[in-house]
Amino acid sequence: MRGQADTAATTGTSRTPARGPRPRLKAVVWERTGDELRVVYDRREQLIIDDEAGVVEALLELLHAGGRTVAELADALTAAGRPVGADDVAEAVAAFDAHGLLEDGDRLGRLAPEDAERHFSSLSFFQSFASLSRSREDFQESLRNAHVLVLGTGGFNSNLLPHLCGLGVGRLTLLDRDAVEPRNFARQYLYRWSEIGQRKVARAVEWVRAFDPSIDVRGIDAGIEGPEQLADLLDEVRPDVVADGIDHPGEVDSWVNAACVSRGVPFVRGGMWVTEGLVWSVDPGRSACLQCASLPDPDAADLDAATATALAGLTLHDVRQPRTNRGIGPVAGLLGALGAFEVLRYLTAFEPPAYAGSSLVIDFAAGCAMRQQSWPRDPACTVCGPTALGAGSGVHRDAVAAPIGGGR
Ligand SMILES: [Zn+2]
Repeated sequence: MRGQADTAATTGTSRTPARGPRPRLKAVVWERTGDELRVVYDRREQLIIDDEAGVVEALLELLHAGGRTVAELADALTAAGRPVGADDVAEAVAAFDAHGLLEDGDRLGRLAPEDAERHFSSLSFFQSFASLSRSREDFQESLRNAHVLVLGTGGFNSNLLPHLCGLGVGRLTLLDRDAVEPRNFARQYLYRWSEIGQRKVARAVEWVRAFDPSIDVRGIDAGIEGPEQLADLLDEVRPDVVADGIDHPGEVDSWVNAACVSRGVPFVRGGMWVTEGLVWSVDPGRSACLQCASLPDPDAADLDAATATALAGLTLHDVRQPRTNRGIGPVAGLLGALGAFEVLRYLTAFEPPAYAGSSLVIDFAAGCAMRQQSWPRDPACTVCGPTALGAGSGVHRDAVAAPIGGGR
């Protein structure tokens, strides 16, 4: 077993002006059995390569060392008595990149050593999603340059926020209107017993600063009073993503939806219905929005009896049942972590958003069984439909009017 390559430092040959990438192997290992090479990065996938002449293994060793362009790799192989054309090397490099085995050494080593140490785990995570065109440090940089607006620092967001800080999100704006109360202590761990009665948002800002002073954090001691105020807030803050954990007033979700969709800002929401937890998001112009999911009137004439009955129950529950928060610590912790993961998807695109127009539903009365419940995009939606998102609306994402499947 050879070929451990797990440090972020570039290995040094002399730097010349850019002539394409300097491919470098990730933490790839390989072994030879007869004429075959077995190459593994992710244990779920192994490459078996026929390498009777040993050229591929020689190339892997050079890629492990890093620091060479494709032309320099071809030269080095030729000098070592294995003449190969640059085109063949380019083809092999493209194949390795397609299997997710390479990064560009020129896109590594930019982080200061203390930052590389600080983000060691995140960089190791991003290594799996990196390629020749995007290194693990590029992912980390997109987090450093990101700005997240955190609406509410209660159950959902007080559990989401530490993950954003740990990931290294560079800018945070926190909004909350409440004071620290004893009932928060079942599930909100940013606060201390000695802080009861103090303003939550100020304590949360202090928590972030104490955790990592390099994070640019600001607190706004206010609630959301109406759609105009929220729209003004978004225009002022201009966040990349909104983490939405505000429950009051009852219309606040539709305000967040309308303001975010019209500005092309994705938002991630967590919440709970009795024994079910939910995490969902809206990717403006791409996924269904909250308005697309609004329930039809159960009294509408064109509904069949079963649908009308189901809708009547949902409407009774949603409208009449008091919103009692039953989210104990493990519930809020799980929802907050999954919400942070969704924010991470939007900020880095390491993979597409997982819950856009598709609620992740967790049944806390059934072993935390998870299922996804998608809702279709409404082509006539007054918030995200083509009319609402017409020219000049400020939406910069492509507005695709196709439903994304499922039902509700
Ligand atoms: Zn919509």
